[in-house]
Amino acid sequence: MILEEIRNKFLSFFEEKGHTIVPSAPMVIKDDPTLMFTNAGMVPFKEFFLGNAIAKDKRVTDTQKCLRVSGKHNDLDEVGVDTYHHTMFEMLGNWSFGDYFKEESIAWAWELLTEVYGIDKNNLYVTIFEGDEKDGVPRDTESYDFWKKWIAEDRIIEANKDDNFWEMGEMGPCGPCSEIHVDIRSDEEKKKVDGKTLVNKDHPQVIEVWNLVFIQFNRKADASLEKLPETHIDTGMGLERLAMVLQGVQSNYDIDLFQKLIGQIVKQSGFEYGKTETTDIALRVIADHVRAIAFSISDGQLPSNTGAGYVIRRILRRAVRYGYQTLKMNEPFLAPLSKVLIQEMGEAFPELVDNKTLIENVIREEELSFFKTLEQGIKRIEIILENQKAEGIKQIPGEQVFELYDTFGFPYDLTELMAREAGMTLDQAGFDKALKVQKDRSRSATSLKTDDWTEVQKDDKEEFIGYDHLEADVKITRYRKV
Ligand code: ATP
Ligand code: MG
Ligand code: MG
Ligand code: MG
Repeated sequence: MILEEIRNKFLSFFEEKGHTIVPSAPMVIKDDPTLMFTNAGMVPFKEFFLGNAIAKDKRVTDTQKCLRVSGKHNDLDEVGVDTYHHTMFEMLGNWSFGDYFKEESIAWAWELLTEVYGIDKNNLYVTIFEGDEKDGVPRDTESYDFWKKWIAEDRIIEANKDDNFWEMGEMGPCGPCSEIHVDIRSDEEKKKVDGKTLVNKDHPQVIEVWNLVFIQFNRKADASLEKLPETHIDTGMGLERLAMVLQGVQSNYDIDLFQKLIGQIVKQSGFEYGKTETTDIALRVIADHVRAIAFSISDGQLPSNTGAGYVIRRILRRAVRYGYQTLKMNEPFLAPLSKVLIQEMGEAFPELVDNKTLIENVIREEELSFFKTLEQGIKRIEIILENQKAEGIKQIPGEQVFELYDTFGFPYDLTELMAREAGMTLDQAGFDKALKVQKDRSRSATSLKTDDWTEVQKDDKEEFIGYDHLEADVKITRYRKV
């Protein structure tokens, strides 16, 4: 079953169960000061859960374009290194806004996975929330009882708050989750840990595929919980992980879509997939990143120096660095790769086709512009790394990180990645200080030139201060006015 069919089967299954199929909301969020990118399927529906709006359709299903490169959900360091985290991915979801609840949600998840997709029951595990007395949240006995109807009890695993209790923020709607894990270990591997119930934390090949969230409480300002008058279902399943399971492969990057993308990079670079870990990581990262970049552009977010635009630029530069340094490509490769992507995904996401030329041109321009300083930058960082090594220092000074950023266009996290590859860290405080000095200087230069009349570009009004301020799914402080 190819990706397209897997996606459509999900949507039509829930359509038959009375759900309305809705298109994905944009991945780039333009009108919400609290969040830059959609990072989960629930984001476009959050007003329904908060009770600020009433859903027209009480049952909805969709596939949502998600990006997880910031804050609480930052998977960037895993991408390409493991085989099941992407920057951008599709989250399939079914939703009940004050309609059906746990029983149907669990029964349908089981029916879809085992009957429609035909996954072997003996390869499935589920988790339920074990409860937290201190916090006053009870064990999710209801879910346990509903699961018991379908799956052997020793395959129902109790899990703690970290993974199995969802909260929108410090206050507001929340509730227990139940996650479904698929065991894709080989028989040989299974024998080694026979008899043990497993989830992803115990073994990387027991993959979490689906999260069912049961929104049933409201957390009040004093941190106590009250029952919500209406309960909701919020589920999210990673399409690429599901495809890996259904296509019988061991990695998301072996599914049809990624094989096409990797095939194109192999063709252009001459490096084969499956030869060395270093080149494989590069091939996977590039195949992953081109999606995040192309989808962001088609959502209207061009690479730039601030905000969401800078997130896209740093993803792009990260991909270019892997292509240039590891795969020895010194001509644009992401732009031609975007064509393959659009061919593969354009039917499901027509916005890619509508913006085909824009996507290709913007990516090519970005690649060409970074190529201009990339070689010098890599040389510079190699010298820095060698000097530090010679002196036995495991950290790169902030001013040098800033020099790489300012003169060679190396985003902080790219330098960090390259330093990590050499076993080193960065002096972040020193970098922040150098950045601030530059901002202060350029601000006073501007006001000097423009006398008492100043018009600033929108981008100049905001200073990017990082991606790591996300405390909850929907609470984020990313800008300070300058
Ligand atoms: P993980 O523990 O593997 O990081 P998660 O618990 O953070 O996943 P959820 O927030 O529960 O993920 O999202 C619902 C589903 O979305 C997951 O079960 C998984 O199938 C998928 N998913 C989450 N993050 C990614 C990602 N970075 N790339 C691809 N799929 C993902
Ligand atoms: Mg995660
Ligand atoms: Mg998880
Ligand atoms: Mg999860």
